Amino acid sequence: MNAAFSTFIALFAISGVLSILLALYSSFQKTRFSGMHLFVLMSVATAIYTFGSSMELASSSLEKIKFWISFEYLGLPFISPLNLLVVIHYVGRERLTTPRAAFGILLIPAITSVLMLTNDLHGLVYQSMELRTDAPWPLVDFVMGFWYVVNGSYTLGCGLVGMWLLARHMRQTLNVYRKQTVTMFLGLFIPILTSLIYIMNLTPYHIDPVPATMSLTNLLYCWAILSAGMLTSTPVVRENILESMRDGVIVLDPAGRIADYNKAASLLFPFLTPEKIGAAAAEVFPRKQLRAEDADMRFLEAEERQIEWLESDGIRYYRTRSSPVHYRRGGAYAGRTLVILDVTENVLLHRKLERMATHDGMTQIYNRTHFVECSDQLLAESRQTSEPLTIALFDIDRFKLINDTYGHDVGDTVIRHVVHACKIYLGDRDVFGRYGGEEFALCMPGRSLDEAFNLLESVRRELASGPVMTAAGPVSVTASFGLTEARIGSPLKTLTKMADDALYLAKQSGRNNVQISYDTDGEAEVSGSGTGT
Ligand code: GH3
Ligand code: MG
Ligand code: MG
Repeated sequence: MNAAFSTFIALFAISGVLSILLALYSSFQKTRFSGMHLFVLMSVATAIYTFGSSMELASSSLEKIKFWISFEYLGLPFISPLNLLVVIHYVGRERLTTPRAAFGILLIPAITSVLMLTNDLHGLVYQSMELRTDAPWPLVDFVMGFWYVVNGSYTLGCGLVGMWLLARHMRQTLNVYRKQTVTMFLGLFIPILTSLIYIMNLTPYHIDPVPATMSLTNLLYCWAILSAGMLTSTPVVRENILESMRDGVIVLDPAGRIADYNKAASLLFPFLTPEKIGAAAAEVFPRKQLRAEDADMRFLEAEERQIEWLESDGIRYYRTRSSPVHYRRGGAYAGRTLVILDVTENVLLHRKLERMATHDGMTQIYNRTHFVECSDQLLAESRQTSEPLTIALFDIDRFKLINDTYGHDVGDTVIRHVVHACKIYLGDRDVFGRYGGEEFALCMPGRSLDEAFNLLESVRRELASGPVMTAAGPVSVTASFGLTEARIGSPLKTLTKMADDALYLAKQSGRNNVQISYDTDGEAEVSGSGTGT
């Protein structure tokens, strides 16, 4: 027996052992890969085939060789169809592998096995088999039978379909899983290639090289299972989840480089293109589209952030969550995932609701509730700082008449005009609210009674200075004002009551004037001032 021959036998034997190990290892793996049982069957079929092949090569007589070839055929015809089934699971089409479909796919191999066992009766697989006379060790030469061609074509067909499925899958595969997909692809491609070499009679003494290459593909599978976690995870399920997520996901490697991203992420950030894989994330995000607060890129590592993204057509609001990822085994740091949620609609809706809850729809100044809230707060602060604070109420004069004469719409225009005129004289700290229909309130921190009186006088004069231009023509409008100052510890309620008393006095005094109500030790005393008409 020469060295080359021994090497062949050794290779076949190694391949057989690897197949058995693979089958054992796979069946002990805790896995969610749905095609695992098929993978185990495929490894068993491969083990039968390669073991039979090594025994065939080591046989010294035609009888023994025939026996071992029949033995090989208990595994050989099943390898390629089972591999196809594994691939179907791997690419996430396991719904196609119904028991009926699997039975259909494995029917031809089963027939092949039976025909091979009974070949002597019909010669359908091998028409004839005889020992080669030219070989340095016992090898058979044979004439193919009809079924040999059927089985060969079927094996090739399964391999090609599997390769086609994997190639299609490759395009939608995340980078981290490409290694696995390539491995699966080679596992199909290498046996097909060597079979072609065999069929074209390119091997010495027409030795079948396929069992030998099985050891190579088995090594590949072993490597893939151990290193890439092939079949131990459910890449397809994970990818599908990742891809179907509406939230953007960016995977960063431990060095902060972009390792992967899903479709949603590339829709949110169109600069995420395949070329950016491997680039530092902090450099990939265009700073000019981020607020100054976000430009430090802390959101890539901060647990949760809300960032603002400046688009040409407005600001988008993104909630980002960055979580560290650790290897399952050993717990070493594997990088981060950055999940990005577009919360623009929520933020805008929230703001709208907040504004609706605090502002008057018609005039866009504070509503009564919010005015009271803000004033309470300012009153408490003014007590701490001993700063003056004045409260005023004012009411449009004879507004009912305006409504009755010109209609409600014109009344609305007048209300808006009054708000506008008042705003002209207000400062940043003054709080302005619509207190009732055509009644308004002012809380003026930091303004003394005199200053506040002058301000109200200015507003009063502004209104009285000329008519409002409305759809119904010019309409004259005046208002009456009541003012008070917070002195002692009176609550807001008391102060507004006092301002209202002063306003009542202003109405009594002929309207279009400002009256002050003085707070004297909690005893309100109203005394008129201003310009009564
Ligand atoms: P006075 O000088 O004594 O204040 O007389 P007035 O007519 O203004 O007094 P009154 O409080 O009787 O009338 C207020 C009217 O304001 C009654 C109500 O129909 C009207 N009004 C309240 N809110 C609105 C509004 O939003 N738009 C319009 N157009 N009218 C309103
Ligand atoms: Mg009125
Ligand atoms: Mg009124």
